Amino acid sequence: MPPSRFETWLHPTPSGLFCPPGGFYVDPGRPVDRAIVTHGHSDHARPGHDAVLATSETLAVMRMRLGDGAGHAHQSLGYGEKLTIGDVDVTLRPAGHILGSAQVVIEYGGQRAVISGDYKRRADPTCPPFELVTCDLFVTEATFGLPVFRHEPDAREIGRLLHSLATFPERTHLVGVYSLGKCQRLIALLRHAGFGRPIWLHGAMKGACDLYEELGIPLGPLDLVSEAKQSLAGEIVLCPPSALKDRWSRRLADPVTAFASGWMRVRGRARQYGVELPLVISDHVDWPELIATIEATGAGEIWVTHGREEALVHQIGLMGKRGRALALVGLEEEDLE
Ligand SMILES: [Zn+2]
Ligand SMILES: [Zn+2]
Repeated sequence: MPPSRFETWLHPTPSGLFCPPGGFYVDPGRPVDRAIVTHGHSDHARPGHDAVLATSETLAVMRMRLGDGAGHAHQSLGYGEKLTIGDVDVTLRPAGHILGSAQVVIEYGGQRAVISGDYKRRADPTCPPFELVTCDLFVTEATFGLPVFRHEPDAREIGRLLHSLATFPERTHLVGVYSLGKCQRLIALLRHAGFGRPIWLHGAMKGACDLYEELGIPLGPLDLVSEAKQSLAGEIVLCPPSALKDRWSRRLADPVTAFASGWMRVRGRARQYGVELPLVISDHVDWPELIATIEATGAGEIWVTHGREEALVHQIGLMGKRGRALALVGLEEEDLE
């Protein structure tokens, strides 16, 4: 295949995607002078950069998670504001993935590239919805880039959790959720479904929940499991997936173990975590949404950053587009853990 026509102004390097005329990297995997960060998950927002450009929410997440490692100079850019960096124009647009998440739109020489970071297309009460931007080059994730991945409607999955709670009022409902993004979305979805009682948290979820509330996302009454004076029978407890099977959960009343993730479509994954109630709730696009989004951008060339690159690149070829797997190191699935 001849080299891509975008190669001169955007290309993968060992440190991540680099834009030479702008002098910056997007979601670099190693410390760099100038980084644009799509969102605060740890595989995208790495410590040790000199200057970081991101939405103000993402910068706040980075300060919470990384402290001094969050970068020396922070510059925030609001959604839709255009900034000229070197010879390129940069705009951030909502990615609908977690609070603050953005697609990076780069314009150079009459061409437009969109680097989507992680994204989803469904409504999420904790962040603005994904905004479709037409472009010449679309750079996408492929976390769920296999036809088997189809996410259920969120309301159905929340309904299954509440039904189980009503059926087994003597059992604690312990739900594994990724601590940044998924946790707060699950809480917001429960509130939306009318669940007003306190929701109990593992200590690892508290920082991100406090930050979401500070940034204007109401989550309702939350309490820490470590401060519970009563048995948590009939209550909902949220914890990191890694805590589902450890000794921490032994104090809970005969727990029903649940896990909210796109991976719960795969029975083996549910079994691996001892999950009785798998909830297919994801912050990434599923296969049909991935294909529809690629088509809707109108892009003739698609680069795939991480996930199931091979299957997706094959599909892109079938769609008459040029596809390329970037195989960027360091970007991995944070949805599971
Ligand atoms: Zn992410
Ligand atoms: Zn990611």
